[in-house]
Amino acid sequence: MKTLKDLFVHTLQDVYYAEQRIIEALPKMIDKAETNELRNVLNAHLSETKTQVQRLEAIFEMIGEEPTTETCEAVDGLIEEAEELMGEVEDRSVLDAGIVASGQAVEHYEIARYGTLAAWADQIGLAEAKDLLEETLEEEKRADRLLSEIALQSVNRHAA
Ligand code: FE
Ligand code: ZN
Ligand code: FE
Ligand code: FE
Repeated sequence: MKTLKDLFVHTLQDVYYAEQRIIEALPKMIDKAETNELRNVLNAHLSETKTQVQRLEAIFEMIGEEPTTETCEAVDGLIEEAEELMGEVEDRSVLDAGIVASGQAVEHYEIARYGTLAAWADQIGLAEAKDLLEETLEEEKRADRLLSEIALQSVNRHAA
């Protein structure tokens, strides 16, 4: 890698991998979630995530690259940790608090990556890509906020 554009493409491949892993992982979290509210938020974000994959494919097309993945060790680790936790917590109310925490860890990772990608897209003159990346960034921030709200309004209290 030599240029900022190369780094941009590499990171795009990283999030393209990450979003696909998240699409695989979310249904298991939805299955395990006890409260309707939590299941609804996760379900809504699952469908947003599918749109996010399409946005990434649109960006690859804009820059004339085949959509390819680069293994994202960070998201692999976050998902592995979430799955481990889901296997270890017996009380279902406590499990919901764990699922929220695991979900927020993933959202924070995505917020970091999409923030960076949007800034780089802007810098290298990819205005349309920047807009798409910012749309996704807003969805990740909202998912994080909704998870916080659920935790503070009910999940943590039930778990305590
Ligand atoms: Fe995402
Ligand atoms: Zn890499
Ligand atoms: Fe990564
Ligand atoms: Fe997300």
